[in-house]
Amino acid sequence: MINSKLKTIRDQVVACQLCSLAKTRTLPVIGQGSHKAKIMFVGEAPGANEDQTGQPFCGRAGNILGELLESIGIKREEVYICNILKCRPPNNRAPLKSEIDACTPYLYEQIKSIKPKVICCLGNFSVRFIMEKFNLQNKIQGISRLRSQMFNGENEEVGKVKIVPMYHPAVATYNANMKSVLMEDFKVLKDI
Ligand code: URA
Repeated sequence: MINSKLKTIRDQVVACQLCSLAKTRTLPVIGQGSHKAKIMFVGEAPGANEDQTGQPFCGRAGNILGELLESIGIKREEVYICNILKCRPPNNRAPLKSEIDACTPYLYEQIKSIKPKVICCLGNFSVRFIMEKFNLQNKIQGISRLRSQMFNGENEEVGKVKIVPMYHPAVATYNANMKSVLMEDFKVLKDI
């Protein structure tokens, strides 16, 4: 069952024209998973497969994310998975600041609605936005320094949330050695 706040966000994203990605996308990718999830995963932006299906992390990076979740005994349907941007940037280029500024209010509304205990940030764009939002701006560094550490974030609207930066699973699609690094890093989520 979709909760009414998440349904409103869905309707707003479907109608959104706040940036030019609305013109080039096929489908927006809003989010997927349990609306009562204790863990929320926030990636970067939809790729080609996600743009076609409207589902987050359903391509190669998504297969890796699925393996990582399985390795720590978490089912995909127990968590909530979404992205910084809801629409695919052409040729999978990096998100622009203007696109992040336009799109992340939707993500923040999703966070306020789901109220996860843990937000796992996949990659630098996600880390930067989430750590800023939860008053951890002075701790922000590159993902290779922050990965698999846990930070106690807090703000007035959401309260306390544990923030865990991870490498983006796509790194293991370019470099097979990174899969075992990610597997090791994901164990921290199981411990939390
Ligand atoms: N990469 C992301 O960051 N998000 C997706 O949904 C797919 C690939």
